[in-house]
Amino acid sequence: MKLNQFAIIGLGRFGSSLGRELSQLGYEVLGIDHDEEKVNEMSSVLTHAVAADGTEEEVLRSIGVRNFDCGIIAIGDDIQASILAAILLKDLGVKKVVAKAVSELHGRVLEKIGVDRVIYPERDMGIRVAHQLVSPNLLDYIELSKNYTIAELGVPKKLTGKTLSDINSRGRFGCSVVAINKPKGMIIAPVAEDVLTEDDVMVVIGTNRQVEEFQESIE
Ligand code: ADP
Repeated sequence: MKLNQFAIIGLGRFGSSLGRELSQLGYEVLGIDHDEEKVNEMSSVLTHAVAADGTEEEVLRSIGVRNFDCGIIAIGDDIQASILAAILLKDLGVKKVVAKAVSELHGRVLEKIGVDRVIYPERDMGIRVAHQLVSPNLLDYIELSKNYTIAELGVPKKLTGKTLSDINSRGRFGCSVVAINKPKGMIIAPVAEDVLTEDDVMVVIGTNRQVEEFQESIE
């Protein structure tokens, strides 16, 4: 199901950034925060911004929160408020509820309540930045499952002019280059004769170990 309308409770650093981006992408976003200053800051950015307590059932009912495709609880520090808002959004029948957790325990409680997706922005960003810091060619990655990753690897100078057949990632490590992003455009499903140049980015898929070994081999 495509989500079109989003209600965000809490317009702190995370909630406001999320709301701003969703609005820029053209989606309808309602923001709720009990801090009027935060609401004023976001009122020109979001479709609607309301100064209200997101833990009050009447408030959420009168705003018509149940008609939104997705409710996001972006309250972190006040764990009690986050949990109350999550229960209310679930009880009011919001189709998809997403909540930010500040700790594992907070996340476990949110999951028990039935929150559809719990996110840990600080923890996940810390992990991501750590990987990028220790692997100079790693631009970004997605964990497909516990064992499989898709990684974007920059092409270092020493691979310039080499073909995919020369680097032979599949034969040597078991991972495949499924796309090459070149300044001129993307090559999807590249062939063995495709040549790499320094500004290219390889999109590589494989097990975590395979991708890691390939990455280390090109450092
Ligand atoms: P961040 O780290 O993303 O800034 P915070 O927890 O610091 O997260 O900020 C959460 C935001 O949620 C704040 O702007 C705060 O005013 C708001 N907030 C907290 N409790 C409620 C509540 N009960 N109703 C509405 N907004 C709330």
